[in-house]
Amino acid sequence: MPQEAVNIIGAGQCGTLLAIMLAKQGFLVDVFERNHDPRIIDAEAGRSINLALAARGINALVRAGIYDQIEAMLVPMRGRMLHQTDGNAEFLRYGQAHDEVIYSVTRRDLNQVLLGVAEGIPNIRLHFRQQAIGYDARDCTVHVRDLNDDSLYEVEARPLFAADGAGSIIRRSFDGSDTFGGIETLLQHGYKELSIAPGRSDQHQLEPNALHIWPRGGFMLIALPNPGGDFTLTLFLRNDGDPGFSSLTTPAQVESFFQQHFPDVAELIDNLVDDVLYKPLGLLGTVRCRHWHDRGNVLLIGDAAHAVVPFHGQGMNLAFEDCIVLDHIMRTEGGDWPRIFRRFEEQQLFNANAIADMALENYIEMRDTVRDPKFALRKELAFELERQLPDNFIPRYSMVMFHSDIPYAVARERGETQRQLLHEFTAGAERLGDVDLTAAIIAAKERLSPLNEIKVDRTL
Ligand SMILES: Cc1cc2nc3c(=O)[nH]c(=O)nc-3n(C[C@H](O)[C@H](O)[C@H](O)COP(=O)(O)OP(=O)(O)OC[C@H]3O[C@@H](n4cnc5c(N)ncnc54)[C@H](O)[C@@H]3O)c2cc1C
Repeated sequence: MPQEAVNIIGAGQCGTLLAIMLAKQGFLVDVFERNHDPRIIDAEAGRSINLALAARGINALVRAGIYDQIEAMLVPMRGRMLHQTDGNAEFLRYGQAHDEVIYSVTRRDLNQVLLGVAEGIPNIRLHFRQQAIGYDARDCTVHVRDLNDDSLYEVEARPLFAADGAGSIIRRSFDGSDTFGGIETLLQHGYKELSIAPGRSDQHQLEPNALHIWPRGGFMLIALPNPGGDFTLTLFLRNDGDPGFSSLTTPAQVESFFQQHFPDVAELIDNLVDDVLYKPLGLLGTVRCRHWHDRGNVLLIGDAAHAVVPFHGQGMNLAFEDCIVLDHIMRTEGGDWPRIFRRFEEQQLFNANAIADMALENYIEMRDTVRDPKFALRKELAFELERQLPDNFIPRYSMVMFHSDIPYAVARERGETQRQLLHEFTAGAERLGDVDLTAAIIAAKERLSPLNEIKVDRTL
């Protein structure tokens, strides 16, 4: 019997993991990627260099049997190191269990492992320098340009998985129709990446097991550790205005901006002036759709379906979660593509919208709310309630980052109830001892149903 064939556009993180999972189910998978093979030429240079990997992403990599190859490349980040303007720094743990950590991973290394695994699977064919240029819904074909010789050809949607990222040409081919109803919303803030080289003996020059944040109200600088002893920094700032990237146009302006806002780290940054002046400005945005599928022919997946801003470190984690959710559904629904795609959308679309919202909210928390003296107290109370009521209360950050069995939409809804509760019980308090803990525990039990009633099984 001939193998059933499927096509994927995009060999990014989502397209490649999806290819591996579909191939393991026995499909013949063709993947069309516009860039060169990044193992030969890295066309992604300039995109975020490293990423935070958390439970949802890890869960998917374990399920695909790849995690063992990635584990050695990870740098654990146990919490946030908050750097004040006066040079003082405070470390706040992300979670309280020993294994509640997130991991910094280099995008290039991760993509290379994924592609290496995909290449080793005989029923996956990777086609690089093949650019999808549009989708024709009437005859269900994608028009593709072979960038090696400029020739054009067509690929059938039999079905087609569009994993072609936030600017998906497949999604945009449907603009003007009701099929996906995609809306792209650009943030008024952009980003530039900077770096701190390794110190003596390749030691990190800042605490390695932390995600560093310099919160400055309307903007922030962050740093994630890399395995080689260096750090990748990202300056998130308004595109226009002052302060804004448009007002950082001369060496003197860049130096003065960093001396004023980031004096403790400015001298550690390599090529500070040139990188701020000449590196391309990264854009940030959110993609929301009403639907993700065109009958049983096309499915949007990963950033193509739901790009989110990076402030919760969840875009890739969500894209990986998509792959296991789809894999589960396919194993139970047989070959009924319209039904599979409908069920996938039912399970993931409202979750994607929830993390899109939480990611936007987290930008305000990271750049501003963390400076509120009550922030640490609320975190302390949240940890105490988690210890006292592990079946009812898990801090929202932990639900998102460490609990892949709690859907994002549940984390958002419960997180709001918990936020109100934490504000209420810390209102007149300066330290945990001032909080009426007994009343807080009673209130939490009343307002939050047991978590085991809402958990989903992602380990099938
Ligand atoms: C600054 C920044 C920091 C981030 N940090 C984190 C983080 O810490 N943690 C996290 O989980 N996520 C993070 N993300 C989000 C993460 O990068 C994305 O969610 C993830 O890469 C999405 O994977 P994807 O495969 O869906 O899309 P992509 O990685 O964009 O892959 C799409 C692929 O499709 C290809 N393609 C595009 N168009 C075509 C075409 N027309 N024809 C053929 N191929 C095409 C592209 O070349 C690419 O290879 C961050 C994003 C940014 C911008």
